[in-house]
Amino acid sequence: MSVQDFVVTPPAATSLPVSGTDARFPVRRIYCVGRNYLDHIRELGNDEKQPPIFFAKPTDAIVQDGATIAYAAVTENFHYEVELAVAIGTTGHNIAESDALSHVYGYAVALDMTRRDLQKALSGKGSPWDVAKGFDESCPCGTIFPASSVGHIHDGSIKLTVNSEVKQQATLDLMIWNVPQIIAELSRLFVLQPGDLVLTGTPAGVGPVVPGDVMVGSIDKLGTITIRVGERV
Ligand code: MN
Repeated sequence: MSVQDFVVTPPAATSLPVSGTDARFPVRRIYCVGRNYLDHIRELGNDEKQPPIFFAKPTDAIVQDGATIAYAAVTENFHYEVELAVAIGTTGHNIAESDALSHVYGYAVALDMTRRDLQKALSGKGSPWDVAKGFDESCPCGTIFPASSVGHIHDGSIKLTVNSEVKQQATLDLMIWNVPQIIAELSRLFVLQPGDLVLTGTPAGVGPVVPGDVMVGSIDKLGTITIRVGERV
């Protein structure tokens, strides 16, 4: 199909680079897990007896490594959250935990950028989180590393610095739901498809950035993502 086949200009396809190949990973949906590390639940004052939750971001919220993102509009508390992203490679519904890793193509470092002030206000009213989580440029994501080359990511360090100062530092084994559990739970709610990305939650240490800040997220075996915060839009 060409542009002439559409009544308005069709959106560009979203994709991410893959380590070791020029071929790219096509992004279909972005699912996110909230409240998946106990110390982060506690720092935000949420109920630690409740299980983790799911929300989503639009596909075109993806931003690639090296980009500058605008300081988001309509917030005075623009927060970083560094997270392990899981890239789904094969279709699955009601996936068993024991089979879950067979659906994983690879992994990446991602940032779940958040309008924290709006999230708190919306949570207090029981309202949806979309405007706090699903805005433009809210999902920086690094290069996808295939599980076939780096293995499956169960533990190791996850870290975020702002202007070279360490803000978040934890290990992936602290996740309340590990990757197989997340895939099993999520696949009860949605048919997972190739191209889906799943952000697995953030550890403690979330906080604000201001224009000019440089965030570097890193996870063992998955390299780094560097994102600069630009001026307010
Ligand atoms: Mn998050």
